[in-house]
Amino acid sequence: MGQQGCGVGRGLLQAGLSVAETAVVAAGIDALWRGRSLSPREIWPQDPVVAEEVFASLAAAGRAEVDDAGRVFGVHGFTLSHTRHTIFHGDVKVHTWCAFDSIGIPAAFGLDATAATDCPTCGRGLTVAISGGVPEQSVPAGELAQWLPEAAATGDLMGKFCANADIYCSRAHLEQRIDTATAAGSVLTVADAARVGREVWADVAGLAEVP
Ligand SMILES: [Zn+2]
Ligand SMILES: [Zn+2]
Repeated sequence: MGQQGCGVGRGLLQAGLSVAETAVVAAGIDALWRGRSLSPREIWPQDPVVAEEVFASLAAAGRAEVDDAGRVFGVHGFTLSHTRHTIFHGDVKVHTWCAFDSIGIPAAFGLDATAATDCPTCGRGLTVAISGGVPEQSVPAGELAQWLPEAAATGDLMGKFCANADIYCSRAHLEQRIDTATAAGSVLTVADAARVGREVWADVAGLAEVP
């Protein structure tokens, strides 16, 4: 299965979002970059009703995280919960739902950043330096293997896609966990993951403000 068969792209996060709804999501991302968990109406006071609807429907589809008090703490791969995946950008540290997010977000936003995750097979910590949105190609980054599950534009994004979109220290370690002959998905280099990420986050990257 090559990258061409990869079902991930611009549609992964859109889930039928209109342009106006995408702007609401981008405002939510602004808050998460700053470590702030806000209610939808605080995120988008211009139209609180639309904001409530957007985050409620995304949360129902495993595409946003909202706490019991109604505050948004995750959307579009960004999360304030503690995960195995982190983006370091200047003084800012933000967690992501999956390893793919930790590469794809800095790639789409054109950031100088470091993505940190770990190999699910051996537990080794992995970091990728990213410069202007482009991952470094040095060893070991060149040996890392990104598993990108096949994904639909609808359905439980966190549970069905992010839960398995890991980066492994090597292709061998990826194949110890994933039967690439039968599992639906693709094995990508980190550079390819960045390329796909630029597509996936394209709509919000132009709207959200990175601190
Ligand atoms: Zn490993
Ligand atoms: Zn993800």
